[in-house]
Amino acid sequence: MTETAVVEVPTYGHYIGGEWREARGGDTFETLNPARRDEVLARVARGNEVDVQDAVTAARAAFPGWSRTPMPVRGDVIGRAARLLEERKEELARLMTQEMGKVLTEARGDVQEGIDMAKYMAGRSRGAVGETVPSELRQKRCFTERVPLGVVGCITPWNFPMAIPTWKLMPALLAGNAVVFKPAEDTPLVAIRLVEILIEAGLPAGVLNLVTGTGEEAGHALVQHPEVTAISFTGSVEVGRQVAVACAGAGKRVGLELGGKNAMVVLADGDIELAVDGALWGAFGTSGQRCTATSRMVVERAAVGPFTEALLARVRQLRLGDGLDPATDVGPVINERQLHRIHRYSEIGKEESARLLHGGAIATAGALERGFFYTPTLFGEVAPGMRIAQEEIFGPTAAIIPADDFDAALAIANGTRYGLSLAVYTRDLRRAMEAVDRLEAGIVYVNAPTIGAEIQLPFGGTKATGNGHREAGATAFDEFSEWKTVYIDYSGRLQRAQIDTAGPA
Ligand code: NAD
Repeated sequence: MTETAVVEVPTYGHYIGGEWREARGGDTFETLNPARRDEVLARVARGNEVDVQDAVTAARAAFPGWSRTPMPVRGDVIGRAARLLEERKEELARLMTQEMGKVLTEARGDVQEGIDMAKYMAGRSRGAVGETVPSELRQKRCFTERVPLGVVGCITPWNFPMAIPTWKLMPALLAGNAVVFKPAEDTPLVAIRLVEILIEAGLPAGVLNLVTGTGEEAGHALVQHPEVTAISFTGSVEVGRQVAVACAGAGKRVGLELGGKNAMVVLADGDIELAVDGALWGAFGTSGQRCTATSRMVVERAAVGPFTEALLARVRQLRLGDGLDPATDVGPVINERQLHRIHRYSEIGKEESARLLHGGAIATAGALERGFFYTPTLFGEVAPGMRIAQEEIFGPTAAIIPADDFDAALAIANGTRYGLSLAVYTRDLRRAMEAVDRLEAGIVYVNAPTIGAEIQLPFGGTKATGNGHREAGATAFDEFSEWKTVYIDYSGRLQRAQIDTAGPA
């Protein structure tokens, strides 16, 4: 982290065992405003393995009490957190824009996703958690229930600083686990506010512990800790794979939500204007820093001309700036490293002979020079195998890939290592349904961009994007609990399954 001039900034500690405390080593790091890199928002504890050890010890101690608390009572705490999130939505959204950069309307949406998830989980606390199944024997009852795992480590990225943590914390806590939460080093402040809200909502000491710091130190220590039963990880494929290997070695359960290289297929019979609206929002919303960003537009050749022309006209109008300014369409990217990484991909695209239609440069005009701004970038005539069509850029860069026909378009859309979100634009119901059948992704949209998940449905990807888990929706609970099967025999005699089968009375 960069050292900047002496400015009075607040300092925050870890939250461990019901109290805020400094890092054991006394180290801190800074969290910055990406729209004005010289604006330090806070100094935050930089955790290491000793802090993680403290947090896991506290979580272990709190687990028995919390896991035996009735689920509706756990749900009440989450319900109160939902109300507090709702009351503070505007304040949280502003903080998020300052810390992460996304424009205020999107930051409000990010907080709303957290509110929705908390409400949904609070509601589920009074719902069924298993099923009653008939026994083959008389005077015997069989049922299943979900039981918590123990101490769960939640590791999150910076691009949805409220939504992603709530997707993990709310179901993990509702299921009765104790949690150690390690948020991304670029967005610790939003995480601290979320933890404060859960404490205020009545979470007992030790049930939720926050350790801020880097992935290499705090994150790594959490993954390695033998008393952490499960890890829920959202981030890049590269780190996710390392986490999975470490967890496999330790016999730990791991849920992975990783990267994407999402595509919208635009067929010639589709509503081109609608597709352009979707492409603009899908590719350049959140400055393209979404795992579901529409980074590829696979367009049937007959529609390439009109689609490109219309999209280019809209991209040219996008205004870069501070996300708190209502005139801004596209905010900064998260940090200097990402800014240069995104720019490197523009260079690669040109080297690969893709046609740069717009952007391709770090934006430095006027006040933009103070932040990490990248001009919205559009490439045309991109071939499906090019690196800019295969690798996740995680910035405001999109590629138009011409396809000869419907079958070719689907093959191109499916032709990456990722499988998160794919979309099709067509007016032909038969082709829409055929695409739903054949697109290889965890999420498929028809006549909408690759963005727009709702919390009451499962979220996650196939292929390199994940490892089979789904967050949110009815499946959210699966990641954070396991089945217990219960047989109750009240016959008063030994009844042997498969042997003493009961005949008709
Ligand atoms: P990242 O992998 O660099 O970091 C994610 C988290 O892991 C951070 O908290 C980081 O500190 C931690 N971490 C880093 N190294 C670690 C290690 N060795 N051990 C343990 N933890 C470690 O990702 P990022 O740059 O923060 O986020 C961007 C990535 O996240 C993109 O690839 C994006 O597609 C992905 N993402 C996926 C989803 C999804 O649901 N599929 C959602 C959002 C973001």
